[in-house]
Amino acid sequence: DQSLAELDPEIAAVLGGELDRQRGTLEMIASENFVPRAVLEAQGSVLTNKYAEGYPGRRYYGGCEQVDIAENLAISRASALFGAEYANVQPHSGAQANAAVLHALAEPGDPVLGMSLAHGGHLTHGMKLNFSGKLYDVSAYGVDPDTHRVDMDLVRQAALETRPKVIIAGWSAYPRQLDFGAFREVADEVGAYLWTDMAHFAGLVAAGLHPNPVAVSDVVSSTVHKTLGGPRSGVLLAQDKERWAKRLDSAVFPGQQGGPLMHAVAAKAVAFKLAAGEEFAERQERTLEGARILAERLTAPDVRGAGVSVLTGGTDVHLVLVDLRDSALDGRQAEDLLHDAGITVNRNAVPNDPRPPRVTSGLRIGTPALATRGFGAAEFSEVADIIATTLRDGSATDVLGMRARVRALTDNFPLYPGLDQ
Ligand code: PLP
Repeated sequence: DQSLAELDPEIAAVLGGELDRQRGTLEMIASENFVPRAVLEAQGSVLTNKYAEGYPGRRYYGGCEQVDIAENLAISRASALFGAEYANVQPHSGAQANAAVLHALAEPGDPVLGMSLAHGGHLTHGMKLNFSGKLYDVSAYGVDPDTHRVDMDLVRQAALETRPKVIIAGWSAYPRQLDFGAFREVADEVGAYLWTDMAHFAGLVAAGLHPNPVAVSDVVSSTVHKTLGGPRSGVLLAQDKERWAKRLDSAVFPGQQGGPLMHAVAAKAVAFKLAAGEEFAERQERTLEGARILAERLTAPDVRGAGVSVLTGGTDVHLVLVDLRDSALDGRQAEDLLHDAGITVNRNAVPNDPRPPRVTSGLRIGTPALATRGFGAAEFSEVADIIATTLRDGSATDVLGMRARVRALTDNFPLYPGLDQ
């Protein structure tokens, strides 16, 4: 049996090249993280061979005795971690988890209210080219134009006007916490289900550093690979098992998916185990601290002078949204400049962005991956200074100097020591 390098040297070279890239740069895409070796091991395992349509104890295939153990562990660990009676660990991704939620809560054509993509919502919350925007009658709430925060009076007003069957709380680009209790009140007032998508902040919730939406939401969906730091995949949770288990289970399978990816399910079980530990909570604290340090440095007077500011003036979570509307740099130029310096971020539209979506006037910068790498206050201060100086100096940036400072940080925090692909 040939190794990957023997059988397919081109793909082996991609794996090696990507490992080098991850090791040699600072990963600050807010939705990314580095999974532990144990998760890599579970995901690259023989469980990928197994068909297991159905659920533990009631499969449509034989030979499921081992994968049943893995799925039951994943379910019980996810439930315990988030205080939920019910968990479904089969969604292949966050988008598929969300498709299953809408499948379970609404019929095609039903009104649904979510956060506008342009203001920080996700594609699956009603973007017009996404299944959510095509199948459902979607309306959107945005952030307040001055404070850039979600204003619950505006959400209530939109809900009273559109009478949604489902209200979505959750975001992909928003630097503050949502008031889940207030969302519950609005949902109750208009007779809507409340679905919270905690994909971004689930790791903070698991660590007790962010309000937990499970108790007040009808259904909660999440990815497992962002702050939570597990394999690329999704999960569904609900407090009221009796009410939701059947509907959600059948919305995932057979509603959306065929055979679950049992290697990913096993890797999720590992990630949920780790997320219940003290080391994980300490890492989430450093994640938040890093984002605060970054926001403070970016709003210092020498940077503000270059037209750089931070939406809402700071952050309560793992990311910072940089506003470049008054800067000489647009989002794409800023992303490219930081990339040349060895820092990976993504450009991101700011609310009411005057530039087109492929260019944008903003950056989304997150700290989860660097916190996983081991960064603390001192390293985050250095990273913040590199980013702030680069955004301030723009095209006059000493790119080689910045690259050297990045290299010093990456050298001090080796990633996956001993791994060769
Ligand atoms: N929900 C939210 C809030 C997200 O930010 C994302 C990913 O960006 C998703 C769902 C979708 O996750 P996936 O990329 O795994 O489909």
